[in-house]
Amino acid sequence: MLKESSLSQQRNSYDEIRAPVRSLCRKFDSGYWQKVDEEREYPEAFVQALTEAGWLSALIPEKYGGAGLNVSEASVILEEINRSGGNSGACHAQMYVMGTLLRHGSEEQKLRYLPDIAKGKIRLQSFAVTEPTTGSDTTQLKTFAKRKNDVYLINGQKVWTSRVQHSDLMILLARTKKSEEVEKRSDGLSVFLIDLRENPKGMTVKPIRNMPNHETNEVFFDDLEVPVNNLIGQENEGFRYILDGMNAERILIAAECIGDGYWFTDKATQYSKDRIVFNRPIGKNQGVQFPIARSFVNLEAANLMRFKAAELFDIGDSCGAEANMAKLLASEAAWEAANSCMQTFGGFGFASEYDVERKFRETRLYQVAPISTNLILAYIGEHVLGMPRSY
Ligand SMILES: Cc1cc2nc3c(=O)[nH]c(=O)nc-3n(C[C@H](O)[C@H](O)[C@H](O)COP(=O)(O)OP(=O)(O)OC[C@H]3O[C@@H](n4cnc5c(N)ncnc54)[C@H](O)[C@@H]3O)c2cc1C
Repeated sequence: MLKESSLSQQRNSYDEIRAPVRSLCRKFDSGYWQKVDEEREYPEAFVQALTEAGWLSALIPEKYGGAGLNVSEASVILEEINRSGGNSGACHAQMYVMGTLLRHGSEEQKLRYLPDIAKGKIRLQSFAVTEPTTGSDTTQLKTFAKRKNDVYLINGQKVWTSRVQHSDLMILLARTKKSEEVEKRSDGLSVFLIDLRENPKGMTVKPIRNMPNHETNEVFFDDLEVPVNNLIGQENEGFRYILDGMNAERILIAAECIGDGYWFTDKATQYSKDRIVFNRPIGKNQGVQFPIARSFVNLEAANLMRFKAAELFDIGDSCGAEANMAKLLASEAAWEAANSCMQTFGGFGFASEYDVERKFRETRLYQVAPISTNLILAYIGEHVLGMPRSY
């Protein structure tokens, strides 16, 4: 028997996390995800089981009742969900949004919310940044929060605000200073923690039907009142707080893509061995074998960058370049694996019962959200290679 290579050791490292997450995911089989997808439902039972098992409070420090894991470990949880055929998109934000509250929230805010999140009593799953008229140009967003005595009055509109119907809390980025009054484009934005539990007046949610069955919405604010003590950190400094959280978000999404990618290569490999056409397994043909092998090679390379970024993040080193590169490489490798899997399955790839077409739709998202590939390339061009800013 060949000795396990160091790459494959890495693929299987963190077994103390992988094994229990895999075993939980096995209870939510292909039939479960197909039904949720067909009926355009939210995978409530799955999210509830993950919550009860404590996996969604992985990043909350132990002193607030969480597991106190780091981002490398948390990324393995999301990877395993996607690798099992499920979709972390239903619940991943609780991990990547958490940093904003952990790093910039006051002790009072943390004590108010974190223990209940850790116990699974409430969810912090929603993150409202993107707006319809400004898109990737985040610093130009228009939603405005105007201070009036003890509250802020919020007016404006967000789009693609995911999981808001299945969350108790939402992180909102809004302007507190007009864009013409700020020196730097990134000044004048603030972060708020919105408590959604009492159906706040002044907020309307309109679901968006979309390709991957992602619970996502348009959200309209019309004098929504938010208490001043729900401002996170300093007024007008919010963009910096959101940026801080983005490296974790990129790494966690990269891990989900890695999970998708392995799911696709496993499926394609198995099918290519089983499917007999012209009296031989289709995988014997190099035209079938090589695209699967190539996508596997690219996945392994992307996985190295994902762990490099996660390890830098966990020791507190700067990791903007690595986190962005990991997200780009992993989302493209997953997509390449999806395409080769679809081609390997031939016509059957299009039938829902094999899950390939569903996972194909799900993984395509990650070249656009939460940041598009072009914007990552623009970041690398400017901040890593020192080329002129392109926008
Ligand atoms: C299913 C789904 C869930 C989402 N969930 C959330 C969420 O929970 N919270 C949230 O805040 N947002 C969410 N988003 C929004 C997501 O982050 C944005 O879609 C993404 O950032 C891209 O913004 P945009 O769609 O406005 O595209 P645009 O900014 O309009 O860009 C369109 C295209 O043009 C390209 N482009 C734009 N400017 C440039 C440039 N200067 N150079 C080169 N190319 C450029 C982009 O790369 C992109 O391919 C979600 C989106 C989807 C589809």
